[in-house]
Amino acid sequence: MARTRRQPLAVPELIARKREGNRLSDQDIQALIAGFMDGSVADYQMSALAMAICFQGMDFDETVAMTLAMRDSGTVLNLDALDAPKVDKHSTGGVGDKVSICLAPIVATCGVAVPMMSGRGLGHTGGTLDKLEAIPGFRVDLSVREFRTQLRKIGCALIGQTGDLAPADRRLYALRDVTGTVESIPLITSSILSKKLAEGIDALVLDVKVGRGAFMKTEPDARELARSLVRVGTLAGKRVSALLTDMNSPIGYTIGNALETSEALEILHGEGPDDLRHLTYELAVEMLRAAGIAQTKAQARRRIELAVSNGDALEKMRQIVGAQGGDPAVVDTPDRLALGRRRSTIRATKAGYVTELDPLELGYASMGLGAGRSRPEDAVDWGAGIRLHVKRGDQVREGDPLATLYASRSALLEPAGDRATSAIRVAKRRPTPRDRIIATIRR
Ligand code: URA
Repeated sequence: MARTRRQPLAVPELIARKREGNRLSDQDIQALIAGFMDGSVADYQMSALAMAICFQGMDFDETVAMTLAMRDSGTVLNLDALDAPKVDKHSTGGVGDKVSICLAPIVATCGVAVPMMSGRGLGHTGGTLDKLEAIPGFRVDLSVREFRTQLRKIGCALIGQTGDLAPADRRLYALRDVTGTVESIPLITSSILSKKLAEGIDALVLDVKVGRGAFMKTEPDARELARSLVRVGTLAGKRVSALLTDMNSPIGYTIGNALETSEALEILHGEGPDDLRHLTYELAVEMLRAAGIAQTKAQARRRIELAVSNGDALEKMRQIVGAQGGDPAVVDTPDRLALGRRRSTIRATKAGYVTELDPLELGYASMGLGAGRSRPEDAVDWGAGIRLHVKRGDQVREGDPLATLYASRSALLEPAGDRATSAIRVAKRRPTPRDRIIATIRR
């Protein structure tokens, strides 16, 4: 039988089809992503398609096809040899979000394999990898082999995205970033899920943040993203659920790498801030339920509390840190982590209640101290950051300390201090409390 020759891909027609609001088939999407990777679909064509998707959207089936095509553009890890259910967590990013560092060992202690791949900080948001690297010697660049071995032995590894995971997403995201096409729910959904599905997980719990310090500023937008992630992830064959959580104030009392790692370790000691513990435990509950290890919230909660109170989660963290080259003594004495030697304290200029701790401004202030990056290639100062002394709703007197700033150079303190001062508002009336957990979204 004569072989049929492959037709050249009609890229302009496909772009126009989407521009006019029509569907693309699974085959169209697979061919576009394959062409993008082999160079037969040019960057400008992919950018035009992204813009058409921004305006016209994609339905769930198209988004699934896009997710799977990007997942399959590189290595897809197969972790089937692990006995335990494999569950990861992904946060859409916030300020003071050190949850992964305490969550992963707790959940692994409860019998779930946690292949956690995280990112670095950019702009006002921090990244788990930078926080972990504040631990002397800690390596986040494990090879796939080391990653698998550690998962088998310890049940948890905390690493960066390996180079070959969903490379189509990395390239497409770089184009979206410079063509005004990041803000599209189907594109964000396929971007996040393609990377996570390449990790070889069975289930995924998402922390979709909403508010001033989050990627999604309004609740309707955040809900739509959470629903899309849950629906598409489920259609792709995984157990996926999402918590919608408030990001109108930083999580815990710290912003900055060493400060945040230290605070996350306090949770494993049964100490630390209530809001950080609450969010960590709620996400852990969702992960245990997704893993099928607990049937009810109460059961999951009991296991989590036991893992912390009997010291097993702390021991798990010692093992993780040791296996990844870090100094395990830090786990027992988190205040060993070095902090910036130049410090200044912001004080209340009047008595009243703390009504606002603007996470966006505090995130930028921390970045100005050296804790974050404005460009991906920038280095971070692990010891820089902000320790808040108050939470929203606290009562203060004039002169009370509101925050301490840490930096390696005195010159950085004043501009960051001005920014942090404008971020902390004190007023006469006590604000109404806000719960961090807004909703749980399941399929
Ligand atoms: N984070 C991602 O990984 N992808 C997006 O498109 C947006 C945020």
